[in-house]
Amino acid sequence: MNPVRSCRICASPLTRTFVDLGAAPPCEAILSADGAEKGETAYPLHVRICERCLLVQLPEVVPAEEIFTAEYAYFSSFSTSWIEHARRYTVAMVERFGLSEDSFVVEVASNDGYLLQHFRDAGIPCLGIEPTANTAAAAVERGIPTEVVFLGEQTGSDIAARHGRADLVAANNVYAHVPDLADFTKGLAQLLAPTGTLTMEFPHLARLIEQRQYDTIYHEHFQYYTLLTAQRAVALGGLSIVDVEELPTHGGSLRIYCRHSQAAGEPSAAVRDLLAREQAAGLHGLDGHAGFEDAVRVVKRDLLRFLLDAQERGESVVGYGAPGKGNTLLNHCGIRPDLLAFTVDRNPHKHGKFLPGSRIPVMAPEAIAAARPDYVLVLPWNLRAEISAQLHYVAQWGGRLVFAIPSLQIVEPALEPGEEAR
Ligand SMILES: [Zn+2]
Repeated sequence: MNPVRSCRICASPLTRTFVDLGAAPPCEAILSADGAEKGETAYPLHVRICERCLLVQLPEVVPAEEIFTAEYAYFSSFSTSWIEHARRYTVAMVERFGLSEDSFVVEVASNDGYLLQHFRDAGIPCLGIEPTANTAAAAVERGIPTEVVFLGEQTGSDIAARHGRADLVAANNVYAHVPDLADFTKGLAQLLAPTGTLTMEFPHLARLIEQRQYDTIYHEHFQYYTLLTAQRAVALGGLSIVDVEELPTHGGSLRIYCRHSQAAGEPSAAVRDLLAREQAAGLHGLDGHAGFEDAVRVVKRDLLRFLLDAQERGESVVGYGAPGKGNTLLNHCGIRPDLLAFTVDRNPHKHGKFLPGSRIPVMAPEAIAAARPDYVLVLPWNLRAEISAQLHYVAQWGGRLVFAIPSLQIVEPALEPGEEAR
């Protein structure tokens, strides 16, 4: 009865479970007040691992038009740390590859142009490729030429014919999000000049397992890579990984550097070293992937126990942030407004709306100071330092911050110098 899904790299049948989180609505499908009066469709979040090539993957079950709706309100520019990450990336790449006004940089999934603006400011010709019309329009508004299209072999070849091939192709935080992995990878290869370099960033599965980051599993996130499976994936487009860096973003990401295989040469010592560490962790076999479901159940149990106990003591808990990952956690744990009255977000596009599934209201950040809750559950744990600093004022009324991942932690926010508890 079960339709057999096949692996996106090697086409083997996917019969082994990595983790099964039940079913939930698409995590970015935030609801307007009207939408909250209607029903939602929940789709399975059942992640499989390929027994042959080891790619951990979520079968595609949500129609793309349901993920990328007009409500899709992700604008990168609302996160301070991302803007800084983008600036540092630009400086590093300009230096490493000696980019100048004679170079050409293409970014895939360029969002609102938050990264390419730095190349533009450095006088380096650039082009964005972004399938979501409203974010692409924001990029064009700030002077970043942007093609509104999904990248594939055909669109990649078409763009290369009109604009030329790129010395640097950046595809940061998109490789995990493409359902047609082979076609997308061939599209990347089309964009890349014969001696050009492609960089991609994506969360590292080793960190996801180690830090129990199961809330990074959601419908738009189709692949969960080790360096080994990333090597196998880029080979679909005739590309090879020549270097790798480990980054702290998203709880632990990899930045890989790829070239056309015939121009690649030997991979760096960093590639060999990381492959060896993955192998030592059991990630080059099935063993290192087993046991993740048990770890997930512990996170759920601890968070629910905390929320139920707080309610019993008459203490209030609100949320901070409305990231996609928050919805995986809230829906998997069955948390509703009776346990988490509201959450807040800096993105004004989300204010007055409701989280999918849980129907928890999203308000402006000022709502926290008005409500003076006993606890603030911080959902985007990957921005922990940034958000802890923003929320220092919670200490004024003796409130505390709560993190659910990797394990339940309740911490006192630090007061700013000169500030006193009231
Ligand atoms: Zn496979």
